[in-house]
Amino acid sequence: MARRLSVVPDSAAPATLLWPFARRRAKVKPRRDAFYPVSFAPLAPANFALSSIGRRSLRFVFVLSICALLAACEFEPPDRTVRFTGSTMGTTYELKLVPPPGQTVPTDFNRQAAALLAGINQKMSTYDPESELSRFNRNPSTDWVAVSPELREVVAAGLRASEWTGGAFDITVGPLVNLWGFGPEPHQDRIPSEDAIRQARERVGFRRLRARAEPPALKKDRPDLYVDLSALAKGYGVDRLAELVEASGIGNYLVAIGGDLRAKGHNGKGRPWTVAIERPTPGQRAVERLLKIGDHAVSTAGDYRNFFERDGRRYSHVIDPRTGWPVPQTVASVTVIDRRDLDADAADTALMAAGEEAGFRLARERHIAALFILPDADGRTFRERHTPEFEPFLLPP
Ligand code: ADP
Ligand code: MG
Repeated sequence: MARRLSVVPDSAAPATLLWPFARRRAKVKPRRDAFYPVSFAPLAPANFALSSIGRRSLRFVFVLSICALLAACEFEPPDRTVRFTGSTMGTTYELKLVPPPGQTVPTDFNRQAAALLAGINQKMSTYDPESELSRFNRNPSTDWVAVSPELREVVAAGLRASEWTGGAFDITVGPLVNLWGFGPEPHQDRIPSEDAIRQARERVGFRRLRARAEPPALKKDRPDLYVDLSALAKGYGVDRLAELVEASGIGNYLVAIGGDLRAKGHNGKGRPWTVAIERPTPGQRAVERLLKIGDHAVSTAGDYRNFFERDGRRYSHVIDPRTGWPVPQTVASVTVIDRRDLDADAADTALMAAGEEAGFRLARERHIAALFILPDADGRTFRERHTPEFEPFLLPP
């Protein structure tokens, strides 16, 4: 499995894809991380039997065709999307911007976006040994350590998710993630010894970490505590991209990092943004569900892209800190929709870590818009469970 120098490992992230075509073309498989404007097939010309109609009728047909063409032009407005892409956090980012009529997108916009994302990596990546987070992780001090407000904000969001899951989600899980080979070190594809798991577990515990806003600082109660923000850093990046877009006066956009995305308004053809959730089948790209997301963020966590297999069992990159083992294969993916992607990204991994029953109960209690995709016994077919809050976003299958 490819390793990356980034906050979040992967081109292997589960995907929420912007569905490339209208729903009636749903047999076309979307390309990985490809985002297209939703569009309709061009109007097909009417199929007349020409021999049976006279010249007048032909003229009529001709006029009709011109009308149809004009109507088609009106129906199919020019796509005004300005698109930028680049690499970040081990995957790709994409910006789809629909500037207001008469307004252009600044020529250096993509440079601004890339600089913003590089700044986030320099603060939050455990893949960069010189990032602010890596330096905090190496710092043995158990006093308050001054950090950037950005790092404090993401740690605080991670601590909140750790709290409401009762520790199923835990941003200090890093030693276990790394031990199982899902961290910055190359993947070993092997099951660690019980002794190594026990030692790593001793270092885990979000209650040993505190975050303070004024002035921004973090404090660990154990010198070797190790914070891993990979579960929610992409969501933070998506929110910051959305802020950058809005600050430039663009109110219609879709921004994405890997499969995490956030949209507002409409696409370049004036239609609502439609996205697809991937079917959680390793090695395949197929659509499970289509969503109309409005002004929301969507994030998906899953066990089907970043994992290894041993003796017919799949070991996921989401680790249960309470057992020290990857979460069992009872949930294939969890998709969460929220206003902010930071919250959606924290919640998808949190619910995945909590497991089907506890996770679904938590999602219900906290009114989280969540869709769980659960494997049947054969592992090849799936069933779904979603909270009532998810219902309005679902397009009929
Ligand atoms: P991705 O989009 O890369 O699949 P997710 O949002 O699903 O990311 O988060 C997965 C990452 O979260 C893992 O690679 C790991 O670094 C981290 N992680 C794994 N288990 C937990 C956990 N129980 N609590 C918090 N973070 C976790
Ligand atoms: Mg997540």
